[in-house]
Amino acid sequence: MLIVQKYGGTSVGSPERIGKVADRIAKTIAKGHQVVVVVSAMGHSTDALVDLAAQVTENPDKREMDALLATGEQVSTALVSMALQKRGIQAKSFTGWQAAVQTEPVHGAARIETIDPQPLSDYLKENGVAVVAGFQGIAKGAVTTLGRGGSDTTAVAIAAALKADLCEIYTDVDGVYTADPRKVTGAYKLEQVSYDEMLELANLGSQVLHPRAVETAKRHQVALVVRSSFTDAEGTVVKDMTTMEGLRVVTGVAQEKEVARLAIVGVPPSSKPLTNMFRTLAKQNVNVDVIVQSILREEEVDVSFTVSEADLDRALELLEALKESLGYREIVHEKGLCKVSIVGAGMISNPGVAAQMFEALEAAGARVKMVSTSEIKVSCVIESSYLEAAINSVHASFLLDQE
Ligand code: ASP
Ligand code: MG
Repeated sequence: MLIVQKYGGTSVGSPERIGKVADRIAKTIAKGHQVVVVVSAMGHSTDALVDLAAQVTENPDKREMDALLATGEQVSTALVSMALQKRGIQAKSFTGWQAAVQTEPVHGAARIETIDPQPLSDYLKENGVAVVAGFQGIAKGAVTTLGRGGSDTTAVAIAAALKADLCEIYTDVDGVYTADPRKVTGAYKLEQVSYDEMLELANLGSQVLHPRAVETAKRHQVALVVRSSFTDAEGTVVKDMTTMEGLRVVTGVAQEKEVARLAIVGVPPSSKPLTNMFRTLAKQNVNVDVIVQSILREEEVDVSFTVSEADLDRALELLEALKESLGYREIVHEKGLCKVSIVGAGMISNPGVAAQMFEALEAAGARVKMVSTSEIKVSCVIESSYLEAAINSVHASFLLDQE
């Protein structure tokens, strides 16, 4: 098999850990597999580089920021290659551009556009292990980066370009859990999860996989496994829903903290509040999440929606400025909220899921303030003080008996 193995920051966090990674790669090769390795920067070294830039200027140039941050991964590629060579394995480091990872010409969070498989497949033919820098690419001759956590995406995109049989993401947790095991009693590791469920979970802030990596895996049907580099435990397989045996109604419980709610009350329907308001907020990069529009009275519309607490003041300012054109009566806002979500592909064919979720939240004492649903997700906004009780109650209600 051709396997792409990606090792995250903690997995290559020290010389000793790098040795362990090299041992694991050596073992994979000894089993007769071909391996391409993708690595992150060591430990928290990317954060350290961000700090360093902040000490030089409060407004670093984006091109230079990418040039700086890309060095972290290069350190890892060289050291992992050396560790492999020491074990008698032919290995070579590749920067993003040496591996022909072309991105769009954007700094800070560029998307990968193409990967020419030639340089890596040539080296595979020589029986060498290519150790590729994650998180970086090249566009119009400049180094670009893919956004924090982007090495996962590099690994999946390389697996797709090389038509690898498997992409293994090695991290410091042993897979994808039904909920955050540090906060939810009885949370357990999932054997498998579909791309769509994983995408929802990743977008809801589960840190295990970069959302774009999941998107790429789904698009190219890359077989993906998330597992720990610290143990031999089997990880979680992320794959297409159609290949899964038995869909769970609920696969995972996720949470988001520091949510604020805004309500624009008494808008005349003629002012098209949805279009005008949300276009303005989007232009100013205020991310709007749960949206509820209610037309209770013919002549008036109420619109409420959530933003992150960090964006609240800016959102309020922007909406105050629109007061005249929208013609609303007042804005109400509320902080100290959070969002609890359940995700599951089997939800589509199971009515009553939302009702069961409301019941579980009620049992935890939480009042549901807002709800949004998709085919495979139900999200409820509640007060933050109930968060921990709420995720435990929801998890117990849906997941404990499914293990
Ligand atoms: N080193 C980068 C970061 O810390 C990319 C990654 O680890 O995936 O965000
Ligand atoms: Mg990561």
